[in-house]
Amino acid sequence: MSLYLDHAATTPLRPEARRALESWRDAANASAAHADGRHARTAVEQAREQVAAAIGCTPHEIVFTSGGTEADNLAVKGVVWAAAGRGVVPHVVTTAVEHAAVIEPLRWLASRGEIALTVVEAASDGRVDPERLVDAVRPDTVLVAVMAANNEIGAINDVASIATALADHPCVVHTDAVQMVATRNLDVATLGIDTMALSAHKFGGPQGVGVAYLRRGVPVVPLLHGGGQDRGVRSGTFAAGLIAACGAGLAAAEADRAALAARLEGFSDRMTQALTVLEGVTRTGPSATEHRLASHVHLLLEDVTSEALSLGLDSVGIAASGGAACGSGAAKPSHVLTAIGAHGTPLRLTTGWTTTAADIERAIDVLVDLLPRLRTSAAGVGGGLMNLAPVS
Ligand code: PLP
Repeated sequence: MSLYLDHAATTPLRPEARRALESWRDAANASAAHADGRHARTAVEQAREQVAAAIGCTPHEIVFTSGGTEADNLAVKGVVWAAAGRGVVPHVVTTAVEHAAVIEPLRWLASRGEIALTVVEAASDGRVDPERLVDAVRPDTVLVAVMAANNEIGAINDVASIATALADHPCVVHTDAVQMVATRNLDVATLGIDTMALSAHKFGGPQGVGVAYLRRGVPVVPLLHGGGQDRGVRSGTFAAGLIAACGAGLAAAEADRAALAARLEGFSDRMTQALTVLEGVTRTGPSATEHRLASHVHLLLEDVTSEALSLGLDSVGIAASGGAACGSGAAKPSHVLTAIGAHGTPLRLTTGWTTTAADIERAIDVLVDLLPRLRTSAAGVGGGLMNLAPVS
């Protein structure tokens, strides 16, 4: 087994989620009228209540999706399409550091002439200045999409201030909170947002299921047309087992959230202190604890190639990310690191609910030995290539 420090890409299933997944694996169709179908529907509705309780909304405002990507796409495209047809091209504001699940659908809409897009830059610590973002909003803006926390460097945005400043503007405020949910409170009323995306495999639920929070009254055009499940917003047979496990996983994560955040903060401090004393190793992201995720330590390595890093980590049995996990698995320049002007080869170490203090000490021992050796071996072959994107 490798030493797993890639919880931002996927965190292991929590036992509560595993039990739910097992018990609903053979569920009947949750839309069927017979007793077995009603039984499965109960599991779906219970999960909806668990999710609603965790983020402080009503169950009606929850739609289950196939993951964070679909939840983001549903909010972004759904809101834009609901605003279309008024004779003007809707305007959208987003940030340069959004996950691909937000920035790509927006670029796609812009390339088709369906929206006018303003992309606001982030500061060098990865955070977006709320004032700059709000200043980019125009009378014709229909959507503002700003991520709650960045998946690569863990920078947390002040979404609540942005939403408060836009409270009197009719635009929809969407936030991708996929990375925030395990360690931060995501009460939607406190955040003041209209739509939000979550992904179960980032908080101890299974892969392949996510959540779109759509505040009551926000018009959203469905992405999928078919049987009209989930009040017509998301057609397709309910994935009862995945949904039940998503609800159970989120309830468990929520109960553990404060303790987990405190534990991971300690791990993060310990790793940062032990690794940034090495030559050519710096930490990116905000310095203040309240502005960064407890789960993320994002380092930039000077004179180390991403290939050497990836081979080196494999050879010592550390599962970590040399960027964000991307769909193709291919290393490509990170738009986030490019946007903040960072240079060097990224190493993202992310912890989660299964990480122990012993794991951290082992990782430190191994990395303190490995990283300087990679640096030496890269010398003379043009080390320190460029900003490669981590997987997710
Ligand atoms: N948004 C962020 C910030 C993420 O980190 C991810 C993870 O990959 C996603 C969206 C996409 O979620 P999913 O993998 O469930 O499609």
